[in-house]
Amino acid sequence: MAISIHSDDLPADIDLGTAVAIDTEAMGLKTHRDRLCVVQLSAGDGNAHLVKINHPQAPSPNLAALLADSGTTKLFHFARFDLAALTHYVGPVNGLVYCTKIASKLARTYTDRHGLKDLCNELLGTDISKAQQSSDWGRAELTKAQAEYAASDVLYLHQIRDRLDAMLAREGRTELAAACFDFLHHRVRLDLAGFDGLDIFHH
Ligand code: MN
Repeated sequence: MAISIHSDDLPADIDLGTAVAIDTEAMGLKTHRDRLCVVQLSAGDGNAHLVKINHPQAPSPNLAALLADSGTTKLFHFARFDLAALTHYVGPVNGLVYCTKIASKLARTYTDRHGLKDLCNELLGTDISKAQQSSDWGRAELTKAQAEYAASDVLYLHQIRDRLDAMLAREGRTELAAACFDFLHHRVRLDLAGFDGLDIFHH
């Protein structure tokens, strides 16, 4: 396993394949208030690339091009947050989106534990630490513990997707999951337009 840390953008020549796992770390949970600090990416090959956003005003053209590429599937855990942060701070995200949290909620109806740690534990038998989740991601240099935590948030998403896809197929919910993933783009537009605290489908 290798962790590469890049400043403000991905290298131009990087190839992360046709399905890339992506996660983000920000100063907090309010997208418009809390700036994007780190974008983590993995091709599912056991290696992680961390883009440390040191200059939020500076463009990240290589990262933006990857996000905009409609031929690249993007895997997330709780895509709703990451899509809002990436759209707001980097640029439009195109192409198929897969969210392991939504897939888990549709497939694993026997539990209400849908955190990434829970999925790693049950589906892969892997223990990941969440100790750095609430740390200062805006600091100039990431600590070793932060870098390892950030990497662990993208390293297992491909394997988790494979397990959840098998469960979704078994339960006859593959198409419903795909429809929910498609809708995420619209849900994120609502969030960024100020409807984030409101379920417009609720009575
Ligand atoms: Mn994370």
